[in-house]
Formats: sequence, structure tokens, C-alpha cells
Amino acid sequence: MPELPEVETIVRDMRSVLTGQSVLIAKFLNMSIKESGGPPDASSLRGKRLIAIDRRGKNIIFRFEKDLSMVIHLKMTGRLLFEKIQAEQEKHLHFQIEFSNNKLFFYDVRKFGRVGIYDSDGLARHPRLTKLGPEPFDLTPAQFARLLITRHKPIKAALIDQEIIAGIGNIYADESLFAAGIRPDRPSAKIKPDHLIRLHKSIIKVLKKAIDNRGSSVDDYLDGFGKSGKFQRLLKVYGRTGQKCLKCDATIKRITLRGRSTHYCPRCQK
Ligand SMILES: [Zn+2]
Repeated sequence: MPELPEVETIVRDMRSVLTGQSVLIAKFLNMSIKESGGPPDASSLRGKRLIAIDRRGKNIIFRFEKDLSMVIHLKMTGRLLFEKIQAEQEKHLHFQIEFSNNKLFFYDVRKFGRVGIYDSDGLARHPRLTKLGPEPFDLTPAQFARLLITRHKPIKAALIDQEIIAGIGNIYADESLFAAGIRPDRPSAKIKPDHLIRLHKSIIKVLKKAIDNRGSSVDDYLDGFGKSGKFQRLLKVYGRTGQKCLKCDATIKRITLRGRSTHYCPRCQK
């Protein structure tokens, strides 16, 4: 699933290309991916100018004039692309929007992704956005430690809980915990505050490096131009089960933690 760095990469590319353009047509080809929010529908975007594109957690928010917004969540296999890709994927095209100079296409093989159109009231009451925890970049190390010191679940489960902190998923939780030397199954509340502060530093460092490398293409992720990210080559534990730890030569382990595959070094992480 695309996480913060992948969504941020898409947002930055689209922001630089699309901001200021007006919508010619927006239409759903498959209503099952339309997020239920009632009116307004896609046709209300016609003629509206795009003012900004923001990211919140793993959500992409297009902001149009007249207080209209379009919220996109890619979920597992959603792709937002500037170009139509291979013809065989036509059946996976579920939404398209044409701007003055560019077109955007939303593809999703598994159809868990969502596109929603909202007015200002609808956006203010958005069921997913209103529940999101703070962005990792907006937290001070002390605020981050306070958020986690009260949680009794395993630290990995707390990190990927979007209501505690927004944007981190399976890949970047595993990588950040490795960078901080913390075992993913340790209860969050039992980790010393100075170790949580170290974890915050690791998260920031890992996320920034992943954004600089345009995200990780381990499963389906492609950027808006249909290109793969580069951070998958730099992963230290995620997907490296049975391989040697790059720091200590121990064998990287994979466990299932609360239903999610979790990778760590049994020697470097305590
Ligand atoms: Zn190690």
C-alpha cells in the first residue's frame, strides 16, 4: 500500500503540473469506488480551477475554487496517473478527470481505493480525515513520545495506527524500528522515553530519505508518471527475510504481528 512517501511523491508531482488549471470533465466509470458523501457529484467540478493539492496521511486532497475538494485514497492497488497505461488495464480504470492541459486517470485492480467529491461541510465531516492523528513531521520528539508512551499495543501496531499518527504503514514502520534498534513487538508503553525520541528521529530520517528516492515500489506503486520509486533498493529489513542484516550479519526474521508481516533483526533490535 502506498504510504506517506509514495503519496507525497504523487502530490508534489501533481501539484507542480496541475495547480491553476481548470476542470473540463470529471467522471466516474465505476461508482463502487466513489466515496459515499452524497452530493456534490463529479460534474460539480466542471469549470472549477484547482487551487492546491495537499497530502494528509495517505490521503490526496485536491482543493478547487468554491470550496470544493476531491479526496483520493489509493488503498492497496490504486494508481493515479497522468497517462492512460496499457490497454489491458482499461477495465481497471474507474475515474478520470480532464484539466485544461492534462488528464488524470484513477486505476485500481482490487477496487479498495476511493475517490470522493466534497463541499466544505462534507470535508469537515470526512469520516477518515477527521479521525487522523498528527503528521510525523508536525510533531516534536517530546510530543511523539507522549503519544506513544500511553499505548499498550506493540510499538509497530501503534505506529501504523492512523488515528495515533498519520501516514506510516508496514514498510516504514519496519524500517524506522530497525533504524532505532527497537523490536516491533515491544509494547509501546514499555519503551523508555529517550528511545521513543530516538524512534521519532529515525522515522523522520527514513521518511525524508524515502521521499528523496520517490518512494518504494515493492508491490504495485507507481508515481503519477507511471514510474517506479527507488527506495525499495535501500530497504534494510522490509522484504529481506532470511537475508543477512546489513549491520550485524544476523538473519533478518519475519513474524506476523496483528496480522501484518513484520521484519526485524533479532540482534540489532531490542
Ligand atoms: Zn542486525
